[in-house]
Amino acid sequence: MSNENTSIHDFDFNLICEYFSIIERQGPGSPEVTIQALHFIDGLNDNSRIADIGCGTGGQTMVLAKNAPGTITGIDLFPMFIDLFNANVAFHKLQHRVEGLVGSMDNLTFSDGELDVIWSEGAIYNIGFERGLNEWRRFLKPGGYVAVTEASWFTNERPIEINAFWNDAYPEIDTISNKVSILQKAGYIPIATFILPENCWIDNFYVHQVKAQELFLKKYAGNSAAEALIANERREAELYNMYKDFYGYVFYIGRKI
Ligand code: SAH
Repeated sequence: MSNENTSIHDFDFNLICEYFSIIERQGPGSPEVTIQALHFIDGLNDNSRIADIGCGTGGQTMVLAKNAPGTITGIDLFPMFIDLFNANVAFHKLQHRVEGLVGSMDNLTFSDGELDVIWSEGAIYNIGFERGLNEWRRFLKPGGYVAVTEASWFTNERPIEINAFWNDAYPEIDTISNKVSILQKAGYIPIATFILPENCWIDNFYVHQVKAQELFLKKYAGNSAAEALIANERREAELYNMYKDFYGYVFYIGRKI
């Protein structure tokens, strides 16, 4: 950790974590959508084991815990998010059923066949949809479910500007039908897909960021890394407003064959 690049990188990284820890969710979503996805999952009981991968500070995990039986393990790479996650668990008095652990989605330590459900909202892109679905499958019991959200194209063609933005940000973005085909090839029965409504992006994500941005710009006035981060988030929100007919997040729910 002595070289200059590493420390600058670390600073940016901490800044990103701090920024996203101010808001309740670190990606688009809503309690209604989490509950809607949960409706497609049958057979849960008090002994069920659920993992929430890339759980962030746990916005969706608390909704899951209140609407499904069993125990939930939240996994996130960033200790700052897991600290907030566990504070959230204590606040909701869910310690007996929910626990947050630091870990990486590319190196999960569950046993084969241990889990009834793998949940992951707005996070599987970190290792890629196809890789995540393939690698995580072995942790599920036969008949267990995967439920993830993933950025997807709604149409076969779209304006050059948004196409270029996403191909740079996440080249694995694809049409819903191609994503379903990947899910099926990975060894799951496609149970359901649905598009997250606009309020998941605007009311629950970008609007909360406006407040966080103001706070941040005050706290880090003159800090170019903080200003660049906010400029980037604002551009993303602007692009969403312009091109939301062409892309969004989609819930994909599959059952292990
Ligand atoms: N599920 C939350 C957070 C989504 S943001 C929500 O919907 O609000 C994506 C999350 O993935 C972040 O919390 C980030 O810290 C986490 N993440 C990134 N890379 C990861 C990895 N390799 N393993 C586990 N979590 C990771």
